[in-house]
Amino acid sequence: MIKIKNCALFGGTFDPFHNGHLLLIRFLLATRKFDRLVVIPAGDPYQKSGSAPASDRLAMAKLALKDEALTISDCEIRRAGPSFAIDTVKEIKDLIPADRYTWVIGSDAFAGLPSWERFDELTRLVDFLVVVRPGASDVPVISGATFETLEIGALDISATELRNRLNHGEDVGAFLPADVLSYIKEKHLYGAA
Ligand code: ATP
Repeated sequence: MIKIKNCALFGGTFDPFHNGHLLLIRFLLATRKFDRLVVIPAGDPYQKSGSAPASDRLAMAKLALKDEALTISDCEIRRAGPSFAIDTVKEIKDLIPADRYTWVIGSDAFAGLPSWERFDELTRLVDFLVVVRPGASDVPVISGATFETLEIGALDISATELRNRLNHGEDVGAFLPADVLSYIKEKHLYGAA
């Protein structure tokens, strides 16, 4: 297997996959900083509750990213049990040999990093690229984690807000890729009609 230099990993619940995720991914691809970008929908997002089925979240990510030059991994969905990033990184390392792995993460999620399973081990295997999100502009220094911050003018959108809006029958067309919105409606996810 050919070894690449820089591999970026972007995990998330993607419940649903929205334009904030897409903007970030397109920004990363445009920088050409990474030889490979792997997007990883969580199988069992154990720190979140009541998410849509993993198969639907994977399908929505695939629809949103169908034209992008990246890899979508279903490794967390195939693996039984809670989706721990440390297990994912080890699995990806075997599949995609690289000199360096960077875990891309929003600043809100980065703040919670110390609570992640085997956090110390994870910080030895990856560096972090912390994308500043509106409302979470103070990026904490986390002891042991090597990180860079990235300001991309991230969209002020969260999946939580979109689920709530869909549930109330509001128009969220401006915040979701069109194919994702059609999928949500077709499957009546999040109470959408
Ligand atoms: P929720 O509201 O359900 O917590 P979310 O919108 O934060 O969801 P996730 O799927 O949990 O979305 O996010 C996956 C990753 O993408 C996380 O690292 C998160 O910080 C980041 N992220 C989410 N929304 C944005 C956004 N609008 N801009 C930049 N990064 C984002």
